[in-house]
Amino acid sequence: MPVGAPVASITVSDHVFRAPKGTRDILWPDSARWRALVDVFAEVVGSAGYLEVIPPMFEHVEVFQRLGETTDVVRKEMYSFEDKGGRTLALRPEQTASVVRGFSEHRPTLPYKAWYAGPNFRYERAQKGRFRQFDQVGVEVLGPTDPHLDAEVISLAWRFYERLGLKEVTLLVNSLGSPEDRARYVEALRVHFTAESDALSEESRTTLEANPLRVLDSRREADAPLIDAAPRMIDHLSDDAAAHFAGVTSALDAVGVPYTVAPRLVRGLDYYVRTTFEFAAEALDAAQNAVGGGGRYDGLAADLGAPETPGVGFALGVDRTLLACDAEGVFNAPAAAIDVFVVDATGGDEAVVVTDLIRTDGLRVDRAWDGRSMKAQMKAADRSAAALAVIVGEDEKAAGTVTVRDLRGDGGQETVTRDQMIQTLRARLR
Ligand code: AMP
Repeated sequence: MPVGAPVASITVSDHVFRAPKGTRDILWPDSARWRALVDVFAEVVGSAGYLEVIPPMFEHVEVFQRLGETTDVVRKEMYSFEDKGGRTLALRPEQTASVVRGFSEHRPTLPYKAWYAGPNFRYERAQKGRFRQFDQVGVEVLGPTDPHLDAEVISLAWRFYERLGLKEVTLLVNSLGSPEDRARYVEALRVHFTAESDALSEESRTTLEANPLRVLDSRREADAPLIDAAPRMIDHLSDDAAAHFAGVTSALDAVGVPYTVAPRLVRGLDYYVRTTFEFAAEALDAAQNAVGGGGRYDGLAADLGAPETPGVGFALGVDRTLLACDAEGVFNAPAAAIDVFVVDATGGDEAVVVTDLIRTDGLRVDRAWDGRSMKAQMKAADRSAAALAVIVGEDEKAAGTVTVRDLRGDGGQETVTRDQMIQTLRARLR
């Protein structure tokens, strides 16, 4: 085909395929921002000695059943399937269970401080900020019961939001007590809600039978008065659990992480004991403003086959955190993918060499293809949003020089020898 000839459009089928409901393609520049977010996260948690773990995206379904048979995640939302070998597997709906299963399998030395980033899958009602494939970044620590560790974990999430530039994030903390405290509290809730169950929504009446704690999760208006009047976990804590919680809050005070104690905060998964917490982005609508959360899960490792090992961690939703960044106008996507655009008016051979020189030096560079006209190449340079163009015409080629043009406003231009090119580009990019 001759250079520059138009490509005939080919119709493969009448059907235009779209990404499945609840999933989407993340194209540049959103993908660049996404990666930058994970990089910031890796830096923040790396500074506290957390090491990356990459768990599989599916597990034996029983691993996730430990999240609680009465939770929506397990009951309604799991992508479980039988594989060709007859195993029942599930795409991970979250990563704590996977990380703890991995801990139980490999038994790394304690304390085990891990971080992760990657997608999870839940068959949820797809809407803004709620997807069927969504990403989280998170940490898990196994070993210590020290309340200062809970505070470290919470403050790392806080510092991460700060690093993104978010200002309108609030932190809610609560304690669910020991498993025994929790059982007593669940009983107190059962009595409270059962006494006036007629006033509850139908859904919550069903939830009440399965797990009274879950009723506190209801956002239905009908349930609000009874939830407001419900007993508070904080009043049912044993001395030990109360002292642990006081240790967490005083450490948060000491490092200046602001929080509100939310006595009815329960999280959507059953494994939490003692500390629980949640981050809300006030710049988002209330329905999707939960940007992250976590807590202690001291019984989970033993449930998954390890010796009794306490654990604490959190998961932050990447999609929603970026929506919060949009709403606050912070952590913006990059404007350009490259620094330099090479325009070769001599046929293209010069561009081969010049782009290689610039790339090898570590700058980001692109060029035009298919022997386009000088005008078309300059247009492409503008569209690329590169700060600088390197122009090679016949004169420059003959003289062994290049022209460096600043594409930002009236940045001017200069002609320099090839030896001076990199130095000139770097000086202008500074
Ligand atoms: P969870 O594991 O449910 O506690 O979720 C932790 C965080 O992940 C939430 O605060 C959300 O930011 C995010 N998240 C959970 N489910 C979804 C979803 N379906 N779509 C987008 N983000 C989600």
